[in-house]
Amino acid sequence: MSAISPSNSTSSFAARLVELRERIAAAALRYRRDPETVTLLAVGKQQSAHSLRELAALGQIEFGENYPQEALPKIAALQDLRPIWHFIGQIQSNKTRAIAESFQWVHTVDRLKIAERLSEQRPSTAPVLETCIQVKLADEAGKGGIAPSELPLLAQQISQLPRLRLRGLMCLPPPRESFDEQLVFFQQAARLLQDLKQRGLLLDTLSMGMSGDLEAAIAAGATIVRVGTAIFGERAERDTRRETRDTAE
Ligand SMILES: *Cc1c(COP(=O)(O)O)cnc(C)c1O
Repeated sequence: MSAISPSNSTSSFAARLVELRERIAAAALRYRRDPETVTLLAVGKQQSAHSLRELAALGQIEFGENYPQEALPKIAALQDLRPIWHFIGQIQSNKTRAIAESFQWVHTVDRLKIAERLSEQRPSTAPVLETCIQVKLADEAGKGGIAPSELPLLAQQISQLPRLRLRGLMCLPPPRESFDEQLVFFQQAARLLQDLKQRGLLLDTLSMGMSGDLEAAIAAGATIVRVGTAIFGERAERDTRRETRDTAE
């Protein structure tokens, strides 16, 4: 058997996962939503394929990854389990092929050129790539996401691409201490989605909420929450900077 540190044993994953599922269900019920309408994405950056396999054994099949280089070996290692892989990191144009070939979802498209490359590179044998547009809700240097004012045009353009299926929006707002401050961002994302739907786009996805703010995201209508820390514990320093570009690879 491979060595597993005590804090990352299956039993602690199981306990945290149960706790997290309860937390999500409680938030959903509290805001009069069916808990089934909120999908949990386990964010596995810096986690081993072995750890993800432990989670899969507990019924977790949707996984989020930020870096293609880190993700590809895990995708290969877990192939027998047929998980659903979501790409949630910033997209560099030289990494689109890996994303188009190996993921079922991409959450972080924020410009047409990237979307076109993903559509062109999506293998014809694979289903269409489920796609969310990342919107930028606060002015943060270095963060991905399109400005809300430019969203309608980009959404229209992406919805025309043959190998992508536009599903909705993703956001990663700056951390806020209070529920009310978190809610402001998430409600803004929900309004942007509503606006696109009123323009005739068939959308059903709001990817928002992480370990620290998933209740507010669910209150505002999140359909996918992306959670790392609450399952795996704190990550090493490198990744506490959120959305680090993978230039080191
Ligand atoms: C790391 C990450 C998460 C998970 O964040 P936690 O706070 O660890 O739950 C969610 N979304 C994105 C885009 C991330 O990079």
